[in-house]
Amino acid sequence: MSQENQRIPAGAQEIVFDHVVKTYPGATSPAVDDLSLTVPAGEICVLLGPSGSGKTTALMMVNRLAEPTGGDIRIGDRSIRDLDPIQLRRSIGYVIQQAGLFPHLTIAANIATVPKVLGWDKKRVNDRVAEMLDLVGLPLAEFGSRYPAQLSGGQRQRVGIARALAADPPVMLMDEPFGALDPITREHVQDEFLALHERIRKTVIFVSHDIDEAVKMGDRVAIFREGGKLAQYDTPQTLLKEPCDDFVARFVGADRGLRRLSLMRLADLEPSAGTAVSDAVGELPGLPADASLRSALSLMVAEGTDAVRVTGEDHTVLGTVTLDAIRKAGAA
Ligand code: ADP
Repeated sequence: MSQENQRIPAGAQEIVFDHVVKTYPGATSPAVDDLSLTVPAGEICVLLGPSGSGKTTALMMVNRLAEPTGGDIRIGDRSIRDLDPIQLRRSIGYVIQQAGLFPHLTIAANIATVPKVLGWDKKRVNDRVAEMLDLVGLPLAEFGSRYPAQLSGGQRQRVGIARALAADPPVMLMDEPFGALDPITREHVQDEFLALHERIRKTVIFVSHDIDEAVKMGDRVAIFREGGKLAQYDTPQTLLKEPCDDFVARFVGADRGLRRLSLMRLADLEPSAGTAVSDAVGELPGLPADASLRSALSLMVAEGTDAVRVTGEDHTVLGTVTLDAIRKAGAA
């Protein structure tokens, strides 16, 4: 096979798990059992499930940190079996909890690691480090020469993402990347990553055990059950609306109706949906059009109203959304 065929092609690539099995040596049952799913190019797929259900094993088989014992994984049109494991790992961004930075290297040197291994010239490496640090909002002049211990947890995680992206990999693997962050920092870094992903559109596989994180981050979510079996693979909306069995229903939570509302924006409804209450609009509590239906519902309960005023740019009033309209959207 030519050298070219031993690399993942550039650009975001589809990832296919094709009847993948992993049984660890000495184990009596598989850690991952007959996993088949396709992650479309450029999407974020979250692997979600209880501890020990095989999520990390599934993730690590993509870059051959764990070797499948059955089936195949394809990235683009290449089977990972045909790719050299070292080459493969260099062309896949990998982000782990606590960022996994080298503590004795500066931030700039951490980000430069893979480009240097790939033999990029010095100027190209330096330019790329500056570009990556800009991308994650940590200017080179201020942060480049610091060491990981001199950053906050959230900043370290951003550097972990910058490092994973440095060689412009078509695929990113993220193993509970934000698990060690406090809830507020975690929300920020999640939002930043989603905004970044809008621009870079890599194919991402992301392990989580947190349903809220999965619903927020995933274009699709794969729910695993004990024994490494795939229970359901769907968009967050469908998982929350139509869990395929009791296990999935329990896993997505009794408040799955509210979780669905958190995925819908006031702007998705007609601004004056439901019965307009125009004479009293000024007295209704207001929310911006990009607020979620869940926030609107919460505000109505807190304020004892049955509608909210929806505001656009410059606080212009776009109309109202009523409790009834939210109920209908939730049931649709
Ligand atoms: P999760 O990420 O969902 O918590 P893992 O993929 O880490 O699950 O583990 C799935 C199963 O495989 C567990 O039973 C775990 O004990 C086992 N396992 C994980 N890694 C190894 C290993 N290196 N050697 C043997 N068994 C392992």
